[in-house]
Amino acid sequence: MNKAFVTRSTGSWYDLCDVDSNKYIKARLRGIFKQENKRVTNPIAVGDYVMYSFPDAGSEAMIEEILPRNNYIIRKSTHKAEHEHIIASNLDQAVLIVTIDQPRTSLGFIDRFLVSAESYRIPTTIVINKIDLYTSKKNQEALADLIETYTHIGYNVIQTSTTKNIGIEAFNLLFEGKKTLVCGHSGVGKSSLVNAIQPELNLRTASISNYANKGKHTTTFAEMFELAPKTYIIDTPGIKELGISEIEDAELSHYFPEMRALLGKCRFHNCQHIHEPDCVVYKAVENGDIPLSRYENYLSILADEDNRR
Ligand code: GDP
Ligand code: ZN
Repeated sequence: MNKAFVTRSTGSWYDLCDVDSNKYIKARLRGIFKQENKRVTNPIAVGDYVMYSFPDAGSEAMIEEILPRNNYIIRKSTHKAEHEHIIASNLDQAVLIVTIDQPRTSLGFIDRFLVSAESYRIPTTIVINKIDLYTSKKNQEALADLIETYTHIGYNVIQTSTTKNIGIEAFNLLFEGKKTLVCGHSGVGKSSLVNAIQPELNLRTASISNYANKGKHTTTFAEMFELAPKTYIIDTPGIKELGISEIEDAELSHYFPEMRALLGKCRFHNCQHIHEPDCVVYKAVENGDIPLSRYENYLSILADEDNRR
């Protein structure tokens, strides 16, 4: 048997990349394949490592086994709340592309994304694109705040402009030797940035996002593209947010690194950092160590989670 990872899944067949030969193979899944987790609607996701074989000479490749996942991101099925769709697995990191203007990415969106990435233990870099546009005083201040807020917490933040060719080399270096999920609102310049570092992907990236935008597809497939040897990006057309899965109220602050750092210091061990006495998180917000926007988004996610129950 040979080992490969899945780069594309259509539901009936799969594109695999063999880990030894680096060759791409089309494969099917054995019909008798057992689904371990009944709630998951797709047995195999992009990024999965599998063992495959050629059962008969000249026959098509068959996936025999799925190897355990290091991590994975899911999307809840909109129809059946208890059903989950695995979007991608075995990610080394995520890159979130944001803009301050044209369009503006909200801090709420950024924090929700970071919380879900933290909950999946996927390190995230924030790329602020279109910095050529932020010339007004208001936008300059928003840019400075954004950088300060997230670098202070410990996130890697880089600034780019595809039109002025700023930060493109730094952007390129993010990906080396890794499997990276690239996300961001439509219009932030995801395709422009990827094309700036890998023009050959041009057609594929563009055609895929156009396809999704026109709504011909109701299902969106993740797909993995090779940027350079051992370097892959995972594009998830139509997926702007990662679902925040099953986070308990008391657990949510663990996914805010600046709150996680204060873990165990509040008076109550199960402190939710709202009204409790001697809450060090609340104190840190009051004296400015934790930005108000982060705390407000923390409360907002808590409220969402409560509404869902
Ligand atoms: P996507 O939807 O995220 O893939 O975004 P696109 O790459 O299609 O870019 C959306 C629009 O923003 C296009 O008109 C791009 O030319 C423009 N754009 C992309 N990057 C930049 C940038 O750094 N500065 C400016 N001013 N415009 C940009
Ligand atoms: Zn507290």
